[in-house]
Amino acid sequence: PVMAAAGAAKLEDADALIDSVETFIFDCDGVIWKGDKLIDGVPETLDLLRSKGKRLVFVTNNSTKSRKQYGKKFETLGLSVDEEEIFASSFAAAAYLQSIDFPKDKKVYVIGEEGILKELELAGFQYLGGPTDGDKKIELKPGFYMEHDKDVGAVVVGFDRYFNYYKVQYGTLCIRENPGCLFIATNRDAVTHLTDAQEWAGGGSMVGAILGSTKQEPLVVGKPSTFMMDYLAKKFGITTSQICMVGDRLDTDILFGQNGGCKTLLVLSGVTSLQTLQSPDNSIQPDFYTNKISDFLTLKAA
Ligand code: PLP
Ligand code: CA
Repeated sequence: PVMAAAGAAKLEDADALIDSVETFIFDCDGVIWKGDKLIDGVPETLDLLRSKGKRLVFVTNNSTKSRKQYGKKFETLGLSVDEEEIFASSFAAAAYLQSIDFPKDKKVYVIGEEGILKELELAGFQYLGGPTDGDKKIELKPGFYMEHDKDVGAVVVGFDRYFNYYKVQYGTLCIRENPGCLFIATNRDAVTHLTDAQEWAGGGSMVGAILGSTKQEPLVVGKPSTFMMDYLAKKFGITTSQICMVGDRLDTDILFGQNGGCKTLLVLSGVTSLQTLQSPDNSIQPDFYTNKISDFLTLKAA
């Protein structure tokens, strides 16, 4: 029989966890906010951690906004978080291209929303595509083919509410026909929670379409891939064993922390229930779990 992985421990002594690391990486949706609503006790918890001298970093797989736009969102929610502390998968796509010295005379085709465009622009990359391609219809050239730009050297795919067949075919042509063209995914979340009423098809669905037509696996820059962890560790000069990754999702956040060698804390304020965590079908066990991050304010050793 297959042995179940050692179960996560219920967090009982928050101070011991806090004292054991120098940095906290917080996932955003399900940990800091839910949609546009701040989760209870978050401002006080972040204040506590800052007063103890902890470095705080925020990582989200939601690529629809740039880090500047997320800065505004934090501000609107009454949280003082610097843009530089925010690492969205939109930013990660641009940072990845920078890390490989993607040529500035090549172009990026974007299947995704504004956040990706803004980050590519800030990084000085040429791009095409984005939400406006959602209105485009395929125009057949004489000979019955669709034209595409031969200078596209990377296709970046993220969550896209303006998704259509034009984009699938355009992205497919670039990847299949432009020599060496990269296929980069901001994230592969299967579903997201645009509203509480139901689950909605996530960024993984758009990525899946391009994977289906190109038969190529994407290079993922968001969680759970190690790209952002390596980037953060290098940027801040931190050892990952000195990091606690806090998230609400097992297959992105907790795996991201584990892949990076961090301590991991699952909060039950988002998409994962205690039942799911403890189900025999679940093989991803964080070090600790607790209801919400504001438990840091109350959980003291006996
Ligand atoms: N992608 C989209 C489109 C989302 O709406 C969300 C959550 O709102 C996510 C990904 C996951 O975001 P996070 O990594 O902050 O939980
Ligand atoms: Ca989350």
